This record gives sequence, C-alpha cells and structure tokens, in this order.
Amino acid sequence: MPEQQAIIRFDKVNKWYGNDFHVLRDIDLSVAKGERIVICGPSGSGKSTLIRCINRLEEHQQGVIEVDGVELKDDIKAIDQVRKNVGMVFQQFNLFPHLTVLENLTLSPMWVGKMPKKEAEERAMQQLKRVRIAEQASKFPLQLSGGQQQRVAIARALCLTPKIMLFDEPTSALDPEMIKEVLDVMIELANMGITMLCVTHEMGFAKAVADRVIFMDQGQIVEQNTPEEFFNNPQNERSKDFLSKIL
Ligand code: ADP
Ligand code: MG
Repeated sequence: MPEQQAIIRFDKVNKWYGNDFHVLRDIDLSVAKGERIVICGPSGSGKSTLIRCINRLEEHQQGVIEVDGVELKDDIKAIDQVRKNVGMVFQQFNLFPHLTVLENLTLSPMWVGKMPKKEAEERAMQQLKRVRIAEQASKFPLQLSGGQQQRVAIARALCLTPKIMLFDEPTSALDPEMIKEVLDVMIELANMGITMLCVTHEMGFAKAVADRVIFMDQGQIVEQNTPEEFFNNPQNERSKDFLSKIL
C-alpha cells in the first residue's frame, strides 16, 4: 500500500505500562483509507491497548503514531484534532445512564462541537434511524436491551461524523440473540466505506467485511492476512493454537 494513502500509521511503536510491563512491541501498521481491519488474539495480548492508542486513550513511549496526517504526542491540540475524527465503541456501551438516548447523542455535538440543539437533534435522529432504533429516542439506556444500547453507542459515535471507527469487542457483553442485530449495523457501516478497526472474534463478521485480519500475541502483530487465508490457513503456531480454541 502506498504510504500516502495511509490514514493510520504506526511506526515501531512500543508501549509499557509502568516501568517494566512491555505491552506493545515494535508495532508497524499502516491502515489505508476505507480499510476494514479485524484484530484478534488471546486475552491480554494488547488488542485494546493498540486501538486505544489511536485516539490517545493510552499513550505510547516509543515510535510514531500518525492519524490522518497528525502525529500523536503530548500536544493537546493535535490530540483533540485526532479525536474529532475517531469514533469509538466499547464492550460495555459506556452510555450516560441519567440521560435519554437522544441526549446521549446530542451531548457532545452541542457542548464540544457547539452545534445548535435543533441541528444536533436532527442529526441524532438520522443516526438512530440508521441503527434502527429511532423509536427509543426518549428512553433511558437501562430501559433498553444490551443490543439496543450498543446500537445507541454506535449511533452516538456516528453523530460526530468520524473518519475512523474503532470497536473494542462490541458484541462480547451481549446475549447471543442480540449479537446479530449489532453485527448487521456494523456490516452496513463497513459497506459505507468508513475506515474501521474492530477487535472481535466474530469470524462471520471478519469474513463478511474485513479486508485484513491482524492476529496479536504478547504485544506483537504475529500474523496478518485476508480473512480467508487467516482462518483457513493460519501460518503461525500461535495463530493456529488460538484458532483451534475459538473455532
Ligand atoms: P487485550 O485487549 O488483548 O485483552 P489489553 O490491551 O487490554 O489486552 O491488555 C494487555 C495487557 O496489559 C494485559 O496483560 C493487561 O492486564 C495489561 N494492562 C491493560 N491495561 C493496563 C493498565 N492500565 N495498567 C497496567 N496494565 C494494563
Ligand atoms: Mg481487550
């Protein structure tokens, strides 16, 4: 991939927690605009840490991370600029329980983005329609099912019109019957051409939309390939071992 097309670039990135826990090791990664990446690997391998570095929820100590042409370092303006372009969806939804669904979506556009209330609400309703939950706008998060809450979280991230969406195991806290409704929304997003990085072990999702699967183990990217190759013909011993446990 030509370097200039990369919307995210990691160059020899190393990160430690505290002084001696080396959590990311020499990460090199280029993500093309519009590319859809699935990240998998054993628990504790550094998947969440890697994607959290992209919007600086975690900081790295060595190497370069560039997002949409902006380098992430101790420069709050640069960090804010990157965060405007990056939406994130977490395993535990992270909705504000005391705000309605609609208020969850309009909060940041109004108070951070200085958008007038009427416009913020119109845009919020559009996103709620997109995730097929517009009729729940005036409810509170805890009145909804887990699958509905996660779709609200996706709609909330989309209200900020991000160029990049990060998902950290978005379906792992859901009951099995709700996983599909969330994955269907994510597949639609993927087909819209937004750049997407998703930590998940949902193989069906990976096969349906991923351009590339990245396998991490012990802080390293150990293998990367198309979903077909990765799942049918893993090359690395650690990927083989991992797949034998999840399949
Ligand atoms: P994964 O998402 O692949 O399960 P994580 O990125 O969450 O892995 O964590 C990688 C390793 O870093 C784990 O061993 C975890 O316990 C450790 N870790 C994660 N966050 C912190 C933190 N804030 N402080 C110290 N250690 C952490
Ligand atoms: Mg994780």
